[in-house]
Amino acid sequence: MIWNPEKECMSSEALQALQFARLKNLVERIYNTVPFYKKKLDAAGVKSSDIQSLKDIAKLPFTTKDDLRETYPYGLLAVPEAEIMEIHMSSGTTGTPVVGAYTANDLDDWSEGMARTLSGAGATHNSIIQNSFGYGLFTGGMGVHYGARKLGATIIPISSGNTQKQLVLMRDFKSNLFTCTPSYALYMAEQAKEMGVDIKQLHLQAACLGAEPWSEGMREEIQKVWGVKAYDIYGLTEITGPGVAFECEVQYGMHVNEDLWYPEIINPETGEVLPDGEKGELVFTTITKQGTPLIRYRTRDITFIIPQKCSCGRTTRRIHRLFGRNDDMLIIRGVNVFPSQIENVLVSIKGVEPNYQIIVDRNPHTHLDEAELQVEVSQEGFSDETKDMEKLRNNISNIMKSKLGIMLKIKLVEPKSIERFTGKAKRVIDKRKL
Ligand code: ADP
Ligand code: ZN
Repeated sequence: MIWNPEKECMSSEALQALQFARLKNLVERIYNTVPFYKKKLDAAGVKSSDIQSLKDIAKLPFTTKDDLRETYPYGLLAVPEAEIMEIHMSSGTTGTPVVGAYTANDLDDWSEGMARTLSGAGATHNSIIQNSFGYGLFTGGMGVHYGARKLGATIIPISSGNTQKQLVLMRDFKSNLFTCTPSYALYMAEQAKEMGVDIKQLHLQAACLGAEPWSEGMREEIQKVWGVKAYDIYGLTEITGPGVAFECEVQYGMHVNEDLWYPEIINPETGEVLPDGEKGELVFTTITKQGTPLIRYRTRDITFIIPQKCSCGRTTRRIHRLFGRNDDMLIIRGVNVFPSQIENVLVSIKGVEPNYQIIVDRNPHTHLDEAELQVEVSQEGFSDETKDMEKLRNNISNIMKSKLGIMLKIKLVEPKSIERFTGKAKRVIDKRKL
């Protein structure tokens, strides 16, 4: 179901007119209320009167994660503190956490984005939504909560962790949809097997998964073990949290709620705006946000905007499944590769589990970066015969070489030996930075 056809199915002219009006208003607001932005805009020599069309957004300077860190805690506030109703912080995956502050209106926009997201996965006011994203400063829990509330659905606010109880509640309260990170979805399925719970017999129809990179292969795996449709959902604290972009039933790319959060793709080296279809860094301008609005925020996430219209009827543009974060891109002997590409290949190989870790280090002799892929052997794939294990190892190595063009050192590890995650998984351990 399309939650808000008026906004989600606008003609592109009407949408662009709305975006432009909101952008212009934002630039004026921010110039007058946030000294940090007044300085930034003055330094760039742009005034709100220079914004004559949506394209003129390219005249505005970028905002970076460092800007957010340097202005911690409240340096980017655009309203009096008394108007702030809630604060959140990023998980701090890549360093100091950053802050987002929400007014009542910002919470409404967030709820709206999440109501559209859950509707995209088929939820209605009749749905029973088990929210297994963490509640707290992390935006996952509250974001889903607000969206489900807007839908009028039943919410089970269980948060992440306590896996056995998750499964019991899914069964007892007949949850239809659950939300969590893809790695937690996998872990829950594994626990269910151990508990002897047949998750395919539950009442689940869909899962909304996000907050970390995952591959198409992982989606297939999750859909297979759970017997549900798994939808990719995207968001980040700096912009609002989950609800920024979501998949519809077509399951190809995520519709950006671009009447609220305006996306651009740029060349991360030059800052030049790229046309739809070209891959680069995703940038957002929060055109309606009041608490901590941001101009051209560089997410460091890599994707492209899908140029074709979606067959679902929504006209909002879609971003392709994320390739990963710029920070996570590995350069192995000159070949660029994202962990999600390695994952995608790995899940298609028999005898191993989709549990893995990539250890990156610098060889002290050659001074070249080396990556070791630690892969968990499945119970079925495990053998006491060294030659069988050697065969499996060579097989993985050859497949990686032929599919991705990279030579990885492969280390097979015992079943269940790689850490499990109930929130965001840590897949890459970079020893060069330790
Ligand atoms: P942190 O940067 O500390 O992890 P957040 O908790 O706000 O902060 O997480 C936002 C980030 O999580 C995004 O910038 C992106 O890198 C990642 N992310 C969120 N959803 C997805 C998704 N569906 N696919 C890939 N990555 C995602
Ligand atoms: Zn669609």
